[in-house]
Amino acid sequence: MTRICKNCEFINQDDYDFCAKCGTPLVDGLKPKQVYVYNGDRPRLNRKAIILAYILTIVLSWGGFFWWLVTKNTAINAFTFFGLFMPFYLMQAPVRELKRHGIILFFISLAGVILSFYVIMN
Ligand SMILES: [Zn+2]
Repeated sequence: MTRICKNCEFINQDDYDFCAKCGTPLVDGLKPKQVYVYNGDRPRLNRKAIILAYILTIVLSWGGFFWWLVTKNTAINAFTFFGLFMPFYLMQAPVRELKRHGIILFFISLAGVILSFYVIMN
């Protein structure tokens, strides 16, 4: 089985989600520019986008706890809940590599959220 690009008719291997020649998604619903870069013959995960996802998730889910450490104020701790959204989104990605990052991020953010809510309770 091969995947033929709708845009340029290049014949791609069946495990390619994006055309190796022009970068057009070969699977409906994928948005290449956000997560992928094209260099060489295979689309790769955009390292900058992944690092940004990690930074955003850590800031969101651990921010409340660190703010409490500094100020002893728990006013923003409930918002750490939003840190779980990005991992949930990534875990549903149709690409295995993204899913893996989503699962790693989920545990990182879950720890931050639990700590944040723990300090609210105490
Ligand atoms: Zn193409």
